[in-house]
Amino acid sequence: MSTGVDSEAETGQLVYLDGPRDVEFREYGVPTPEPDAVVTEVVRSNVCGSELHVWKGDHPLQDCVLGHEALCRISDLGDNVERDSAGTPVSEGDLVAPVYFQTCQSCEFCRRGEFYACANDYEHTGKSPEVWPHFHAPWGTHYYIHQNHHFYRLPDTLENHRSVAAAANCALSQVMFGINEVGLEYNDTVVIQGAGGLGLNATVVANEYGAETIVIDSVDGRLEQAAAFGADHVIDMDEYDTVDARADRVREFTDGLGADVGIEVAGVPAAFVEGVELVRKGGRYLEMGNVRPGYDVDFDPGRLTRKSIDITTAVEYDPRVLADALEFLEQTVDDYPYDQLIDAEFPLAEIEPALEASENRDLTRATLVPPGEEPSR
Ligand SMILES: [Zn+2]
Ligand SMILES: [Zn+2]
Repeated sequence: MSTGVDSEAETGQLVYLDGPRDVEFREYGVPTPEPDAVVTEVVRSNVCGSELHVWKGDHPLQDCVLGHEALCRISDLGDNVERDSAGTPVSEGDLVAPVYFQTCQSCEFCRRGEFYACANDYEHTGKSPEVWPHFHAPWGTHYYIHQNHHFYRLPDTLENHRSVAAAANCALSQVMFGINEVGLEYNDTVVIQGAGGLGLNATVVANEYGAETIVIDSVDGRLEQAAAFGADHVIDMDEYDTVDARADRVREFTDGLGADVGIEVAGVPAAFVEGVELVRKGGRYLEMGNVRPGYDVDFDPGRLTRKSIDITTAVEYDPRVLADALEFLEQTVDDYPYDQLIDAEFPLAEIEPALEASENRDLTRATLVPPGEEPSR
């Protein structure tokens, strides 16, 4: 990668991770875009659970810029860029949602069209900001969108839902991809294990797809949110406190069969074992919540065979799904309480209180507002 050029007049700030729990602001010249790239100003960036893991040192990444959920404003278009990744014309000043990883178009996976598995997905992220173009991730005032990073112009109707739109490239795109992969159909019954961010997004997507939705969690507030996001039935794990009790309850809602589809978004290994009991014979199961390495569980694989259950997994997504996610949000933003999912706003300068409040779960999700950006929209 050649070293590019920085603007001589303009600098920007970014949140630099020096080591565990050690963040600081650093200032760099704003890069001039390569011909196929786009330089943006960050309008919103959210604090996702994955950044908390990196910040706490649960992940080896350091000497890098943080962030991945973002909404940006085009400030400098590369000479060759006239359209977004869906062919919509773009110009400076437009709000855009970027995918947080690239699809290189030249690895074995991209060659097969399996873009979610691109071997070079994080080529540009995780680098030191000393490496040009410095703004490798969106916790900062600027973000650099490389040639193979998909980005989509924000539908005008979402202009006043900025932090919700900033989250579209993470949970909503992830669940839309996973739900497509597991083949959820109209009139299917689906049991969703976990009503966190992924679970609530899965609930609203499944509901809009015309499925009958059952959501399991143990936190009262989350079950109420699940109902607001379209859950037809909720199961409180404190009330139904064994796997057998929950499986019986799911069968009560599904004519004695079990659910057609199960979606694991609780992120605990035991949920996978339980999910197999909640799904009907011949059903399908989407494993999406367990991603951290080193967590295992006793499991009888014969249960899968005897029940003829198809297992699907999803991590990352086909970047084209973000265009669908934005359209989905455009059509449903007034019908569901998305704003509850991003319930705290911090000026970018208050990154440390934002991280601490997120770690202490004093909030559902924080959004960061860079200097000069209008809050509360
Ligand atoms: Zn995220
Ligand atoms: Zn690739």
